Amino acid sequence: MTDTTPSTASQPIRLLQLYPRDMNIYGDWGNTLVLKKRLEWHGYDVNLLTYDPGDELPDEVDLITGGGGQDSGQERIKEDLLRIAPTLHRWADEGVPMLMICGLYQLFGHKFITTTGSEIPGIGILDATTRAGNGRLIGNITLQCPGFGMVVGYENHSGLTTLGPTSKPFGTVSMGDGNNGSDKTEGARTNNVIGTYLHGSILPKNPAVADWLIEKAVEHRMGPGSFTPKNLDDSWADHARQVAANRPR
Ligand code: GLN
Repeated sequence: MTDTTPSTASQPIRLLQLYPRDMNIYGDWGNTLVLKKRLEWHGYDVNLLTYDPGDELPDEVDLITGGGGQDSGQERIKEDLLRIAPTLHRWADEGVPMLMICGLYQLFGHKFITTTGSEIPGIGILDATTRAGNGRLIGNITLQCPGFGMVVGYENHSGLTTLGPTSKPFGTVSMGDGNNGSDKTEGARTNNVIGTYLHGSILPKNPAVADWLIEKAVEHRMGPGSFTPKNLDDSWADHARQVAANRPR
């Protein structure tokens, strides 16, 4: 690590985690911690915010994270998510970067139809539709992602997701199931919004994804081309990636 002193000149980056109480499994909070820490290492101050059902949203944010959850967690947040959907759509249109994992990935799509047949409506920021399959898709997963190269993580979901034409996949599956176990796609991207099934948490072992989200967040706060990255030592993350990539499914 080079100079890690937060810059007093910078305006704090407003980092919001959605629904940590109900949607936050398999270490997804780790994504938020990685973004906060790497922002600080790159010299930016961070204002870490959380939002649970019934809370008031902040006026503006620069970066949003959301995690996975059981079907029951998705049921608990669904009405509140629909309530705040217009603001989330506005932020997505403005280019606010967002990382949504598994259960919230599904609900950032059009809908999730659970194993019992009940339909949990989504908010349609991502052009993706999910229907529960008969089994669960579980295990280590490795992708090739445009702009990021190899991405490693862990998946555990019943939902089988199909993408529509206006979302690109986050990556192509090298090992594992991804969106549906059959078309080799994994996750979805629209604007600066990424949805993916990868827990792990994903960001500690995939710093290129973290720094892309950070670049977009800094640009949202301070304007295009404003991100000046420090040269961080990612040798531990690189080592962890290699170990993860060579683990059995
Ligand atoms: N309940 C959803 C499913 O099983 C999401 C699971 C998760 O977030 N890990 O598909």
